[in-house]
Parts: sequence; structure tokens; C-alpha cells
Amino acid sequence: MPVACKTVLASRVSAKFRDEIKVDIKERKVCPKLVGFLANDDPAAAKYAEWTSKTCAETGVAFELRKVDKQDLEEKITEANEDPDVNGIMVYYPVFGGKQDAYLQNCVSELKDVEGLCHKFVHNVYYNVRYMDEEETMKCIIPCTPLACVKILEFIGVYNPVIPLGNRLYGRTITVVNRSEIVGRPLAAMLANDGAKVYSVDVNGIQVFTRGTGIHLQAHKVEDTNLTLEQVVPQSDVVITGVPTPKYKLPSSLLKDGVIAINFSSSANFEDDIKTKASIFVPSVGKVTVAMLERNLLRLHDYQHNLVEK
Ligand code: NAD
Repeated sequence: MPVACKTVLASRVSAKFRDEIKVDIKERKVCPKLVGFLANDDPAAAKYAEWTSKTCAETGVAFELRKVDKQDLEEKITEANEDPDVNGIMVYYPVFGGKQDAYLQNCVSELKDVEGLCHKFVHNVYYNVRYMDEEETMKCIIPCTPLACVKILEFIGVYNPVIPLGNRLYGRTITVVNRSEIVGRPLAAMLANDGAKVYSVDVNGIQVFTRGTGIHLQAHKVEDTNLTLEQVVPQSDVVITGVPTPKYKLPSSLLKDGVIAINFSSSANFEDDIKTKASIFVPSVGKVTVAMLERNLLRLHDYQHNLVEK
């Protein structure tokens, strides 16, 4: 019997964004420049840099990969911050890991932070602040991978367009297995800010992110729970995984029949039989992340040149 599951590839979701960016760059005759700093030997980072370079070439973005010694990275970021020809800066993490990487994320100028990882942008996600200015002409830059997951959820119809903007996940239950500061925690916050009940899973336990009963809160709140994966996964309409090891497999037996399963880890976190349980399976998100990076770059280019609509 053929499986009912539909596999949605990131290339399919990203195509519309890539086309929009390409047309925008061509029509406005701009050539935004993105600089990527590679200071580690991680093959996943090299692969990501390769995709970034390829996608940028296709869309008309000037991309320059700068391979640097990690001890020189901070100085090189400062130089790029001050260079008016550079519109966006990204760093392939991890470099040192831990707090030193968090420090480096904040060394990138806010107006060039295409990854949206500086304190202000992540803070705005946590507090559901959507604009950078009081006049609401400058939309906030949102961290790329969480934003890519949101765009995938919109593409496959998890966001309900009948419900007003900002509440379109009301009624949905979503589990996110990863609570890193780069992806999992901002993602859980964004989904809860849009109205979902989100179970955020990490090695230490499960938290629930919601806007309260009737989504009456303006931004999400977080509560610790004693719940287990066995309790939260069967309730979830969507399960998003990001565990960075090939050893981790989320048991298909826990998944609700017809679940939407999305994996953003570089390893396959679902079992091989995932398509017998899921209605939609998204095996990776990387290409949408790169499209979001370019979208953020164009936005920052315009902010740097005061090209916002008043
Ligand atoms: P990280 O190491 O900072 O975080 C891993 C998270 O997973 C932590 O919250 C940890 O507690 C949780 N975790 C680990 N083992 C677990 C387990 N057994 N059960 C439940 N939770 C567990 O990693 P990261 O930077 O968030 O990256 C995670 C993965 O996502 C990596 O494979 C990375 O390559 C990938 N990634 C992909 C993109 C993309 O756009 N495709 C972008 C960033 C990261």
C-alpha cells in the first residue's frame, strides 16, 4: 500500500523566496554584500557555506567567504562592521563554543546581523516586539533557522489564515526537541507568541510555552513541567527535532497519526518508518535558512541606506 505521507523538501519551500529576492535585486539594481566568516573545521559549517555561496550567486547577492584563524575573528568582525561595502555579516558557529561564541554574536553590528543572533534581536523575539522603531517602519530581524521553521509551517498550512495575524497558531500543539539559544528556544517562543501551545524539550526536561488560556497574554510565558516525552509527543500536531547526534531517534510509536514532522538537525532524528506515521515530513530546513539569511540581508541593506517606507 502506498504511504499517504507527503515529503516536503526545503528547496520547494525556499523557491518562492529565492525568486522574490532575485526579482527585487534585479529591479532595484542593488547588489547587497554578505561576508561569511569560517573559523572552524566543521564539515557541516563548510556545507552551509557552500549552499550560501551557491544560493547567493543564483539570486544576485555578492557573497564573500573569509577563512580566518579563530584568534583573529573578533578583529575581522570589527573591520567588516566598519566597512561600508559590507551589508551583512555571518559567522559559522561553533567557533570556541559556549559563552565566547555568545560574546562574538554580540560583536556583529546590529545593522549587519543577518543571522539575527545579537542580544537585541533575540530579546525582541522573547518579548514579542515586532518592529525596531516606534513608527513601525523597520521590522525586526529574526533568527534565520527559527524563521525558516515558521516559513515551512506557513507553507504547509499549519498557520490558519482565517485567524488574525499574530494568533494563527491558536489551537495547535507543537513539540520542539532542542532548546538551544540559536534555534530551539527562540523557535518555541515565536510559535507560542503566534498562539501555539509549545512543549520545549531538552536534555534536562520539558517546559511549556503558551500565551495562557484564550491566548490573553501579549507575549508567551514559560512554565517548568514534570511531563515526559511519552506524554507530550502523542498530543502534538507538529513535532520539530534538532538533536545534533545521529544516535538520537524520536520513537515513531509516540507520534500522533498524521503528525507533521520537521527535522532541522544535520542528523536524521526521526526513525526510518516516519512516513508510515506522518502526514507531512520535512527532512531538513537548511535551504530555507539560507533564503531567510538573504531576506534579512536585503532588509538590513535597506535600513543602512534609509530605504524604509515611512
Ligand atoms: P546545541 O548543541 O546548541 O543544542 C542542542 C539541543 O538539543 C539542546 O537544547 C539539548 O538539550 C537538546 N538535546 C540534545 N540531546 C537531546 C535529547 N536526547 N533529548 C532532548 N533534547 C536533546 O545545537 P544547535 O546549535 O541548536 O544545533 C542543533 C542541530 O541543528 C545541529 O545538528 C545543527 O547542525 C542544526 N542546525 C541546523 C540549522 C539549519 O538551518 N538547518 C541551523 C542551525 C543548527
